[in-house]
Amino acid sequence: MLHVLLPLPLSLAAASPPPPHIVVVGGGWAGYTAAEALSADPACKVTLLEASPRAAGGLAGGWRTPGGRPVEAGIHGFWREYKNTFKVIDDIGLDADEVLGPFTPSALVSKNGPVAVAPVLATAEASTTAATTPDALLELLRRASMPGADPLKQIADLLPAPLDTALLAEFSERSPLSLLDRASGVGLLACWADFRQEDADSWARYDDVSAETLFKDYGGVTDPLYDELVAPLLHVLPMGPGYDISAAAALSCFHVFALQSRGAFDVRWCRGGITERIFRPWQERLEARGNVVLRGGARVSGIAPAGAVDGAAAVDGAAATATGGGGLLVQVLGDETPLACDAIVLAVGATSAARLCESSPLLASLPATQRFGELRGVTCVAVRVYLQPAPRTTGLLGGSHASTLLPPAVAAAMRASPVTVCGPEIGGMAELSEAGFCVYDLQRMHDEHAAGDLAVLEVDFYRAERIADVDDDHAVARLALEAAAAALGVPAATLDPSLIVDVAVVRARRAVSHFALGSAALSPGLRLGEGVYACGDWVDRTGHASWSTEKAVVTGRQAAAAVGRSLGLRAVDAQVIPAAEDTPQLAVLRKISAALRAAAPTGTALPPPAPWAALLKAVSSQR
Ligand SMILES: Cc1cc2nc3c(=O)[nH]c(=O)nc-3n(C[C@H](O)[C@H](O)[C@H](O)COP(=O)(O)OP(=O)(O)OC[C@H]3O[C@@H](n4cnc5c(N)ncnc54)[C@H](O)[C@@H]3O)c2cc1C
Repeated sequence: MLHVLLPLPLSLAAASPPPPHIVVVGGGWAGYTAAEALSADPACKVTLLEASPRAAGGLAGGWRTPGGRPVEAGIHGFWREYKNTFKVIDDIGLDADEVLGPFTPSALVSKNGPVAVAPVLATAEASTTAATTPDALLELLRRASMPGADPLKQIADLLPAPLDTALLAEFSERSPLSLLDRASGVGLLACWADFRQEDADSWARYDDVSAETLFKDYGGVTDPLYDELVAPLLHVLPMGPGYDISAAAALSCFHVFALQSRGAFDVRWCRGGITERIFRPWQERLEARGNVVLRGGARVSGIAPAGAVDGAAAVDGAAATATGGGGLLVQVLGDETPLACDAIVLAVGATSAARLCESSPLLASLPATQRFGELRGVTCVAVRVYLQPAPRTTGLLGGSHASTLLPPAVAAAMRASPVTVCGPEIGGMAELSEAGFCVYDLQRMHDEHAAGDLAVLEVDFYRAERIADVDDDHAVARLALEAAAAALGVPAATLDPSLIVDVAVVRARRAVSHFALGSAALSPGLRLGEGVYACGDWVDRTGHASWSTEKAVVTGRQAAAAVGRSLGLRAVDAQVIPAAEDTPQLAVLRKISAALRAAAPTGTALPPPAPWAALLKAVSSQR
């Protein structure tokens, strides 16, 4: 028996295979989610590599200036249907109500002035009364006929979103929209019902048509409705003008942010910087697991098959052992030795993925990446301006805090909400001809600023190449104040540059996925090739109906699940909460549209235009 008690010979001990090693490239929502899901299985090792030395969180990340003031690459909202994102926040062990403010209305402004305030729809009371089931529909019909019922609200409860939003929104007295303009949006229902988020054929049909053509030529949306409502939303959601956004992206985006359920347009905002509030505790939670390494300042410069990188013989051998010969090597800029791994999850944005392909023959050779060079990105510029305080204005609505030190005229213009969503061409400023933007009163949104003694205005510009090219931060801040004053309808002198105390400008060049015409055809699936996976808001467009942060989280989990399957990992935590089911009204519309499509000749592209579309076009061209 003695020999059984002897330690194993060294050569035998070394033969037991090391745990599978997965490298996640990119430390935004997608990368952290993938790392979280994979490392739930203690049988694997995960290394997350993030290029930025400053902050975790990717595009949602933030840091502090040398003077200690917080700055971010834009303010990020969390919409009601971000169920997977909210679950992440829960899983980290955070109380969502401490991290995020309440659902907040948004004021909408077009080049013609204030348009409307979009209400928070799914209040506890509304969500119990909305017609989300056939029984609820009957109950609503009964209540609508009762004396004293608010007719507008009762009708709105019967309508599918976002027609209810259009009805319940408080339209400005100055808005040029007539009731007929508002009603013209009904013409879009045929396309909305015809477009299926998870159907590749649907995406293909609508991918080469522009959003402008969809809304005007098919939907029969009047010019005023397009200018007042559609254009501002296109400029801040998919972040571009209608001619340069695909109809598929517009339908999917509007479906996710407005149409899919009652209150889908309701949004809440972080009560501070997302890195400090969410990513820092998340990082601590991941590191405490013991099988995750998170490295900042680690830019991946190349990916190669094992054996392909000079001088990597040692790691090459390790990878080959771990994978039975299918190892991969990841080169970090400045590192002497590449990292060996069994699988790679690319959680970088679309344009970064294209750059990595250029420097990695392995990636460049994959069929899935052949058109990555055509992927485009939208440039954003986030401007945070600290201003000398005015006397405090109190009693303001929406947001986490009810008072501000912004000049009283600005406070009054933003009374209904600390968030103003602005379309293009505001104030006739050349820099804004194609840029949309949002104005935020951060004292009403962020706890730290609420307690501070300066007014804090944030202006985030989207599709802002011209502004990004202005090198002088103070010039950009002056432009931001001018744009905010024009949007809020206050004299420029109210936000005079002499009030500026401090400025932080973040230029995110070509950083946000651009859903241009044909972009769905460029979007890859989750698996790019042997051992190489991708996740992010630009990946798998025909999958789960989600956008932006939520899409990054969902695809992060899906990529982790795919890696887990291929490496035989059993405890990967990659469950995805499905998107909302169609409301009963939308389900009926979809049935009708499916029947019409089945009866239409094969190859029919889009449903016939709204009957009034041709008439509107003729009138519009005569003008
Ligand atoms: C101004 C602005 C406002 C926005 N507003 C909202 C909003 O209100 N709501 C919302 O849901 N979304 C919003 N978004 C979009 C949202 O930020 C993105 O959808 C989300 O951040 C995508 O996450 P991601 O992890 O896929 O990619 P990213 O956040 O882009 O993260 C990718 C990471 O990869 C890193 N990386 C790139 N190349 C390499 C490399 N070679 N090696 C190592 N690391 C690399 C980058 O540094 C980055 O940190 C906004 C974006 C901007 C810019």
